[in-house]
Amino acid sequence: MRYMDSNLNRKAVVIGAGIAGIASAIRLRAMGFDTVVFEKNPYPGGKLSELRREGFRFDRGPSLFTLPELVTGLFGLFGEDWRDHFSYQRLDNVCRYFFQDGKVLNAWSDPERFAAEAYAVTGEPSGHILRYLAAAERLYNLTSEVFIFSPFLKPAMLFRPEYLKVLVNLHRLDAFTSLHDRNMGSFIKNEMVCIFDRFATYNGSDPYRAPATLKMISHLEHNTGAFFPEGGMYRITGALYELAVRQGVSFRFNNQVCQVVTDSRGRATGVNAQDGFEPAGVVVSDADTGAIYGALLPEKLLKRPVRTGDLSSSAMIFYWAIGRRFPELDVHNILFSGDYRKEFRYLFSNGMIFDDPTIYIFVSSRQVPGDAPEGAENWFVMVNAPVDSGQDWTLMRERVRETVIRKINRFLATDIKSHIMFEDHLDPRGIMAQTSSLQGALYGLSSNGRLAAFRRHPNKRRRIPGLYFAGGSVHPGGGIPLCLSSAQIVASEIQEDLR
Ligand SMILES: Cc1cc2nc3c(=O)[nH]c(=O)nc-3n(C[C@H](O)[C@H](O)[C@H](O)COP(=O)(O)OP(=O)(O)OC[C@H]3O[C@@H](n4cnc5c(N)ncnc54)[C@H](O)[C@@H]3O)c2cc1C
Repeated sequence: MRYMDSNLNRKAVVIGAGIAGIASAIRLRAMGFDTVVFEKNPYPGGKLSELRREGFRFDRGPSLFTLPELVTGLFGLFGEDWRDHFSYQRLDNVCRYFFQDGKVLNAWSDPERFAAEAYAVTGEPSGHILRYLAAAERLYNLTSEVFIFSPFLKPAMLFRPEYLKVLVNLHRLDAFTSLHDRNMGSFIKNEMVCIFDRFATYNGSDPYRAPATLKMISHLEHNTGAFFPEGGMYRITGALYELAVRQGVSFRFNNQVCQVVTDSRGRATGVNAQDGFEPAGVVVSDADTGAIYGALLPEKLLKRPVRTGDLSSSAMIFYWAIGRRFPELDVHNILFSGDYRKEFRYLFSNGMIFDDPTIYIFVSSRQVPGDAPEGAENWFVMVNAPVDSGQDWTLMRERVRETVIRKINRFLATDIKSHIMFEDHLDPRGIMAQTSSLQGALYGLSSNGRLAAFRRHPNKRRRIPGLYFAGGSVHPGGGIPLCLSSAQIVASEIQEDLR
């Protein structure tokens, strides 16, 4: 690396052991770097962590797993066979949807079966769904290489064939219509509009504002598939952490980085952590950029203020140990709001949770029997929440808990309170405290607006050579696959700088 002090040039520091931080460390190690990861928590994984209590195990954050090859591919960097360390299954039923009028619809991973069931339950012609999913696939194939798997907006790349293909097909990106409007034009039944609008929430966005380009997310779930790791979502963290350790990456837990140290020309030369200065020729930050610009970078380097309105949504989650089984639920379940538009207005305009929120219930013990004792279930009950801007979360949690309980009782004809053996919870303030995410946003910036993708922080900045950015708050965005892609992009940027 041209600009580095020679004794530092094979030393790398990663700030944060979120999934992108671990993946970056693995890639750096595979490139021959002596790699150290600093993590302020006592455990790896950041948002992708778990909770164990009284015989129950809960995945704390992500529950939906797509593009598993981005995980398994990391083992191949060292010639290891991923099957020796990690396994996963394709889900037959991607999600079970419950509607206010009592309709229940299984979104089968097989598109033909899903379309047939959708017709039987809602009356939506199957052809509409199959045509939509085919269009989503075309859009994904056209854009993913550019928007997801490449560094963004690099002039040198504009002449690569995949960029040229996007440029000549700009009109096909569907960026000038909102996802909701596209779905209104594609389906005749409100249930299907809601199901396909919901994909905007996969990166914390509002379907009434986000571009219809996001419809490509439905391709991932319905065409390429939704998966589930054996042992639960936390196995993704566990397997990658173990791989990193096996290959010689060192982790320093309970060790917060308080400053990225730069030399007189602004080059990153290491970090100041709780246990002192750690020199490095390469520093990769997996910390939320909102946090790193606020605290870790020297004053003189550019500050990038992020507006609350640009951030993705957050979440309010109840982890319930349920003392009986509910066969009417699958692994992923959605109880829709009666007024989806109003729910998003509350989230993104009023900074509140709507009185009739859409409820997501994730029961991993359906797939991993050991996650709950015999005859019991582990419920992860989540509603979308606004980011933290000083709301009274204790009050809001009490109110939302009662609303959620009432709604579950109505949808499942039960008295759910009487089955809760114990509970834990997480709100935007807690997410912020646990992972340093700006205002508790789940996915960094939202995609609300046509130009949102262009506002994401790049994976490196020329003003700060030697410092690279991975994770959900930078390009290409939040969610496990995109975070893993950011690590891949960071590695390719470092490789390029080494030449
Ligand atoms: C409730 C919830 C549900 C979600 N659902 C899904 C889903 O179903 N599917 C999906 O794909 N994605 C989902 N996501 C999003 C996904 O979890 C994230 O996009 C992804 O895990 C973020 O990974 P990351 O590498 O950016 O880092 P994070 O997980 O944000 O971790 C960053 C790490 O850096 C550490 N850190 C920060 N600053 C410092 C510092 N100064 N010094 C040392 N350490 C520091 C933090 O402690 C943390 O461990 C969900 C997220 C949440 C919270």
